[in-house]
Parts: sequence; structure tokens; C-alpha cells
Amino acid sequence: EKESTRENNVAKIKVVVRKRPLNKKELSRKEDDIVTVYDKSYLTVHEPKVKVDLTAYVEKHEFCFDAVLDEHVRNDEVYWATVEPIIPLIFERTKATCFAYGQTGSGKTFTMQPLPIRAAEDLVRLLHQPVYRNQRFKLWLSYFEIYGGKLYDLLSERKKLCMREDGRQQVCIVGLQEFEVSDVQIVKEYIERGNATRSTGSTGANEESSRSHAILQLVVKKHTEVKDSRGRINIDVNEPRSGKVVGKISFIDLAGSERGADTTDNDRQTRIEGAEINKSLLALKECIRALDNDQIHIPFRGSKLTEVLRDSFVGNSRTVMISCISPNAGSCEHTLNTLRYADRVK
Ligand code: ADP
Ligand code: MG
Repeated sequence: EKESTRENNVAKIKVVVRKRPLNKKELSRKEDDIVTVYDKSYLTVHEPKVKVDLTAYVEKHEFCFDAVLDEHVRNDEVYWATVEPIIPLIFERTKATCFAYGQTGSGKTFTMQPLPIRAAEDLVRLLHQPVYRNQRFKLWLSYFEIYGGKLYDLLSERKKLCMREDGRQQVCIVGLQEFEVSDVQIVKEYIERGNATRSTGSTGANEESSRSHAILQLVVKKHTEVKDSRGRINIDVNEPRSGKVVGKISFIDLAGSERGADTTDNDRQTRIEGAEINKSLLALKECIRALDNDQIHIPFRGSKLTEVLRDSFVGNSRTVMISCISPNAGSCEHTLNTLRYADRVK
């Protein structure tokens, strides 16, 4: 009973907004900060509604979210407010997703980067607790991206991957490399390696990565005895495929939300990619809404992104959406779009 109480205490869907500080360029241009955060009760468990006041020159817009983190909130506080409460549930068959949504430059990567490192630290610590010690649990990491509707392994020379369903409602990405996580340092190394591999497109420009969704997964697996074709008992704990998924958490650094509007760009490839991004962000919104309404039918087939996350949308799931916003007046339109998106997800 204690377990189920704990599960119920962690909201199924949580929508959090994070505002970044004005940067040097914006300050030098003397741009106005048009985002006001008040009632910053981000660490309050109950009554967590707060407001964002977007004084968009002519109009004033107010939104309420589960939490709003202002420019003074540190990354570890973001972790406490979003991912930390979910971690123990991963050992209880929960599949969790944490998204960073927002326009390019709003702080998605800055926000997302430290989260899997902190999560892995906590997961590894739990793995070694007496209750789990004899269970042959192991933690595995994979990192891939979705670019133009196709999957690429970020930890295996950007090898192209394909997805299939295994008939047990598990999503299987064929050939995706998984690495065991036994300490946290290794997670940092994998993230750095993966980021260096992230899509740079034909222009080689860094901004191309804003057109892809980067997905880092931490999966807890239970390694049980398996019999091979000759009936020999085989426990290969170095082989990720020999484990059965207990729970997982996916960290998704989404493509820049403004890229979904590239559908009128002069470049054909950019238009195609823009359409794909637009489709996936819309499908994501629909899936989270369906989850929130406890709908039986989750429209995950709407995009590659939601298809890949399919098994995290069914059963015992937890979803955290971190919407990142820029404070400067010049970003007003994008900020409003992001807040409206988050508002509809909630
Ligand atoms: P995105 O991934 O959404 O394109 P980034 O995470 O790369 O945006 O952030 C853009 C810039 O702003 C980076 O230089 C980053 O270090 C800085 N930044 C973002 N959020 C914060 C924050 N909360 N505090 C300080 N600097 C930030
Ligand atoms: Mg980024």
C-alpha cells in the first residue's frame, strides 16, 4: 500500500516552464525582459500552481503551470522539481519521459544535459540497495536522434536504425547500441560523444542540431536465466538483450519549436524537415493530452517521435514537459507559442 501511495503522489503529467536569463547580446541591445514569474512555489508538493505574466507590449497574457522556474533557478533545482520524484518508480515498472520543448536558444540543451547524469547517479545508487542487490538489475544507456523522420544511433557513428514492435507492446530499435552504466562519469562521456555526433547536416553548421530530436534512454533491466537452443542455462549479464525491461526513463531534447514553421522555406530539404518537426510536435501534444484524459487510444502513430515513445505512453507512465522560454522582447512571439503549447498539454 505504501508503494501505491507513493506512485499516486507523483503526477502522471507535469508541465513545468523554465525561463532563462537575458544573455549578453540581449543585454547589450538593452532588450526588455518581458516575462515575469511570480509565485515561485516550484518545490511545493501541494498547490503547485504558479503564473507567468507575459507583458507582450499590447496584450498581457497569464498562464498557470505545475511549476515555473525563473532565471535564478539552478540546474539541480530543476532536477528536484522534475525528474527526481520519478526515479524510484523506475524500479516499479514505470516508463517515464522528460521533454525539453522550446525555440532554439531558449535553454533546452542547457536544461536537459545535466538531468540524465543526475538520474543515472540516483538509479545506480538504488541498484545497490539491499532490496535490489540480488535481483540482477542493471542500468543501460542508449542515445539516438530522430532527424527528418529517421533514426540515427549517436553512439555508433550515426548508424541508421529502424524500429519495430515486438508483439508485446515493446518498442524495439533494431541495432541500437546499449551501454552499461556502472558509474556516473561514463554517462557524461557518452553524452559528450553523442553530442559530437549529433546531426550537423550539409552546411556543417551547429544550428542543424536544432532540427533533430535527441533521445537519451536509461533502462533498468532484470537479467534472468535464459536457456539456449541446447537447453543450457545462460546468464549473460554483459548482453543487454538478455535482460527484461523493468522500467525506463527517456530524456528528449526536442527540435527547436520554431523549426516546425520552416514549411515555407525556399530550400526543399528544409521544408520537408520542417513539416516533419511540425508533425511530431503536434503528435506529441495529442499523445500527452490523450494520456491526461486516460484515453484508451493514444494517437502515437502520428509521427516517428511518438511511435518510438509508444511504450512510454501506455501502462504505468510518467511524463514531464519542461517548456523553455527566452525572456527578451524579440522572442515574444515564440515565447507565447511555447506557453500556449504547454498550456494545451497540461
Ligand atoms: P537550445 O538548446 O534551446 O537551443 P541552449 O540550451 O543551447 O538552447 O541555450 C542557449 C544559450 O543560453 C547557451 O549558451 C546556454 O548556456 C544559455 N542558457 C540557457 N539557459 C540558461 C540558464 N538557465 N542560465 C544560464 N544560461 C543559460
Ligand atoms: Mg540545443
